Amino acid sequence: MEPECIFCKIYSGEIPSDILYSDSLCFVVRDIQPVAPSHLLVIPIRHVTFLDEVEDDEFDLVAQMFKTAVSIAAEEGISQSGYRLVVNQRDNSGQVVPHLHLHVLGGDRLGVIG
Ligand code: 5GP
Ligand code: ZN
Repeated sequence: MEPECIFCKIYSGEIPSDILYSDSLCFVVRDIQPVAPSHLLVIPIRHVTFLDEVEDDEFDLVAQMFKTAVSIAAEEGISQSGYRLVVNQRDNSGQVVPHLHLHVLGGDRLGVIG
């Protein structure tokens, strides 16, 4: 837990938010400024800033984030219509919150990237 981190504060309840799902490794909230009809964030409970800080023996955390994205997409009803998973890393990606998170975007046709 980082005292000044928005996502740590959400998990601790200091910032009130509707937590849609949680397990021992990660939790899910809706993005406060959605850029798609369904815009969810899968967030590890442990404060990890970047993927390159995840140790080799900790990658079950990343696996669990992807597994959670798959099940939350099903609950959201966007599995068949399709969705995009995004992880922004550092400045050139536009990462704003320095606590690792996986965006789940869907519910409409998304713009082409890349
Ligand atoms: P990044 O650009 O770091 O990948 O994405 C951070 C995301 O967190 C943004 O889409 C932003 O809208 C979202 N966000 C920032 N503050 C809050 C908050 O207090 N609550 C929630 N639910 N989302 C937030
Ligand atoms: Zn944090």
